[in-house]
Amino acid sequence: MADVVARALDWQYAPAPESRDVVSIAPEYGLFIDGQWAPAASGDSFATINPATEEPLARIASAGTADVDRAVAAARGAYERVWGPMPGTERAKYLYRIARILQERSREFAVLESIDNGKPIRETRDVDIPLAAAHFFYYAGWADKLEYAGFGPAPGPIGVAGQVIPWNFPLLMAAWKLAPALAAGNTSVLKPAETTPLSALLLADVLRQAELPPGVVNIVTGAGDTGAALVAHPGIDKVAFTGSTEVGIAISKAVAGTGKRITLELGGKAANIVFDDAPIDQAIEGIVNGIFFNQGHVCCAGSRLLVQESVADLVIERLKDRLGTLRLGDPLDKNTDIGAINSRQQLDKITGLAAAGEAEGAQRWSPSCEIPSRGYWFAPTVFTGVSQSHRIAREEIFGPVLSVLTFRTPDEAVAKANNTPYGLSAGIWTEKGSRILWMAQKLRAGVVWANTYNRFDPASPFGGYQESGFGREGGRHGLAAYLNV
Ligand code: NDP
Repeated sequence: MADVVARALDWQYAPAPESRDVVSIAPEYGLFIDGQWAPAASGDSFATINPATEEPLARIASAGTADVDRAVAAARGAYERVWGPMPGTERAKYLYRIARILQERSREFAVLESIDNGKPIRETRDVDIPLAAAHFFYYAGWADKLEYAGFGPAPGPIGVAGQVIPWNFPLLMAAWKLAPALAAGNTSVLKPAETTPLSALLLADVLRQAELPPGVVNIVTGAGDTGAALVAHPGIDKVAFTGSTEVGIAISKAVAGTGKRITLELGGKAANIVFDDAPIDQAIEGIVNGIFFNQGHVCCAGSRLLVQESVADLVIERLKDRLGTLRLGDPLDKNTDIGAINSRQQLDKITGLAAAGEAEGAQRWSPSCEIPSRGYWFAPTVFTGVSQSHRIAREEIFGPVLSVLTFRTPDEAVAKANNTPYGLSAGIWTEKGSRILWMAQKLRAGVVWANTYNRFDPASPFGGYQESGFGREGGRHGLAAYLNV
């Protein structure tokens, strides 16, 4: 009888795949310069692939210095003739239009982003695309109110922005960069990441649909060399970069002494701190969301779990139970929690760091889960017995790998959380408001979440300290980076 009941309760998910039909991917894409599509001057191109299947999706033009020159000249022309002199009320109309079209075409964007990036459709549908639209709505509201933003009576734009973005949130990062820049009256040359160019190229179609004047936004695809040519271009007035600390340092050096304004959003190694009075079930959800959201490809991921020693065993046991329920697989299936790793290169990096964790003596655990035979995949992984000197406690893994450390007192939690060259984000789980405030004051992190994690809102500034970069994106603070204040 018990057997019969157990079998009756052994429910399985039925596949719930989102249709690909809503997206049409062209065999090749050019560069978007001055409102026109054009091949690279050199004729060079590269392939973008679906990381879940390794299927080639399209060939993408690879911009060289001559193309970057043309894009910067187009942005300069549009800045001087159209966008710079345009009243804020008029600029706002374009931004509202872009936001509305993104909402209208959200399903198309969500599917495309999942295919090109490997992230689950549940996340692109519920997080990436709605937040991208929300950023345009939010900054549209500022475009005609800049004199009330607290930067003096008549803050003006800076000029042409060179914006380089990573592959972990391709459309959302484009929105974070473009919305404040355009609201403030700047024009832009945007360089998407090599492995995820398709949503930025679809955004070019949205800009055309919104009748944004030619040259206000130019999109140059390519690899790191294209980004390097863009940030070093003498026609750029402002550099905005999101990506690795290593490239951020190289860009700082390239820009030093040129008078260009610069903001950098770099890596992180955030502590997610769980006290013994925390609501444990909520904290478990926060831990899972903190490190396994977007396969851990998140700069502010809660990759170091600091748990109070008295509840460590309980938290780890419940965490393992919860991880056993996560579903890894087809990113287009609406039931999927963990999608594909974005690239072979990133998979190798995660694999190497996880091996280092084992070699240094930490205990490795993953739930049993089936790994698809094609594509790039990494099972959710938890390391216990981690000490602060281990590489997995110090280096940004940028994958679904959690390092668990313990502490006894709040002072020890602060000391361990701050023992990192980064300073982007942190999480605190406790029922005491006074402890949250005490901790938040002591943690050296740009964003501190309390009893939640990975919450974003366009009105809330985001950015780091130390090797996590400088400058803020989002909110009123995000405008400062694009205004002559
Ligand atoms: P990068 O920092 O190399 O990439 C970010 C963007 O910069 C991409 O568009 C990239 O182009 C471009 N780029 C690369 N080199 C240069 C350069 N010299 N000058 C200007 N632009 C450049 O990150 P990766 O994709 O190589 O990832 C490496 C590691 O960085 C990851 O493992 C992860 O740890 C970390 N990372 C952190 C991110 C964060 O938000 N904190 C985001 C992405 C990565 P292209 O894509 O063509 O190389």
